[in-house]
Amino acid sequence: MTLLRSGSATDTGLVRSVNQDLAVETGTLFAVADGMGGHAGGEVAARLAVDTLTIAFGARPTGAGLSEAITEANQVVFEHSLDNPDLRGMGTTMTAAALVNEDGRDVIALVNVGDSRSYRFHEGVLTQITVDHSLAEEMVRTGEISQTEAAVHPHRHILTRALGVADDVVVDLWRIQPTRGDRLLLCSDGLTNELDDMQIAEVLRTVPDPQVAADLLVRAARTHGGSDNITVVVVDVILDDADDAVDEEDEVAGAPAMAAVAAVAPDFRTSADDPADVAPEEDEAVEVLERPEPLRPSWRDRWRARRKAKRVARGRRLITVRTVLFVVILAAIAYGAFYAVRWYDTNAYYVQANNNELMIYHGRIGGGVLYKPVEVERTGVTTADVPPYTVAQLITGVQEDSLKAAQSYVAGLVATQHLSVCTQTPTAPGCSTTGLFVPPATGAVTTTTKAP
Ligand code: MG
Repeated sequence: MTLLRSGSATDTGLVRSVNQDLAVETGTLFAVADGMGGHAGGEVAARLAVDTLTIAFGARPTGAGLSEAITEANQVVFEHSLDNPDLRGMGTTMTAAALVNEDGRDVIALVNVGDSRSYRFHEGVLTQITVDHSLAEEMVRTGEISQTEAAVHPHRHILTRALGVADDVVVDLWRIQPTRGDRLLLCSDGLTNELDDMQIAEVLRTVPDPQVAADLLVRAARTHGGSDNITVVVVDVILDDADDAVDEEDEVAGAPAMAAVAAVAPDFRTSADDPADVAPEEDEAVEVLERPEPLRPSWRDRWRARRKAKRVARGRRLITVRTVLFVVILAAIAYGAFYAVRWYDTNAYYVQANNNELMIYHGRIGGGVLYKPVEVERTGVTTADVPPYTVAQLITGVQEDSLKAAQSYVAGLVATQHLSVCTQTPTAPGCSTTGLFVPPATGAVTTTTKAP
């Protein structure tokens, strides 16, 4: 007879505002689900998945039944997603372990979809059983990157498999012989993102109580950053089939069983300083009865995952096409505004009296925003040559649209004054003796001193 004891803990972490992880912990079924998707999609997906898993496995508590329960959970989440547009795209990871009896023998069946993980801690050695269904792990398998590079790869969180994102899912299934003293660790990536295998093994090695160990692992992940939701389930094998033969008369249960594991835990190897002890390598002592090679994701799944990864990468790029377009439009507006103001400043001339001589300037009276007026013509006309009532205005300046208009204005003033003088004194110099008005020549002194 196999007897298990477990503990679990979950925490939102220090960055996320909601916890989309869920843990399942019954006498024989244990699971971790890490939901994903906006608009509460992750929470809904995880909840639907664990509820379906629990009910479906309860109806058929075998290894195959556990695998089918995951498949059923996938369908439930996927259909719920189709029926609720707000929840489109939601999904969840799921790793689950269950104590089942097959052919009269106790076995721990273990299933996985996604990047939550299951580990076995056997004789002081921590071994990852599940294989992450992530793009980075795919790249490791195809030899594109190393395992070390995968641990920090930007695509390590892009999943190639998850529950609820398609109408079918491939489920990895293992069968493990339960051995007294072994521990199983099920966790979401919130734990493994923050702690390495050595740190996890150290806790499992030194903390015998599974609940205390689970609490401590979650707390440690928080301390190391807590960038994601953290969920941990620790399952201890406190009696196995072999114990029945050794102690058939002992009615093992409850308190005696606890005492048994308390006696086992201190005996775990204490060579924590030796990295080889926690290296996730295949150990002959690990009785993995069945470990099918996980199927490669279909070309469509890989294409979708890569496209998603590119989208994510684009979103994280600081300089995007949208940013460039924005800057170009902003520059065009600024350029246009600059030339509009400059055009306004320069598309004008004015006449102004300077030292009693009428001068023509290019620009705006008083100066424009972007253009300082420049003198373009000395007319040679003095304030004595124009009507006296215009002098005050000429001292301030008279604006005209063009150089020609400014010259005409000056000529007009001279003509008006000349007519006035000849009307009052026909014999004055320059007045016509025939009575006809003869316009005086203007611009006698025309010098362009500065180019506009
Ligand atoms: Mg997570």
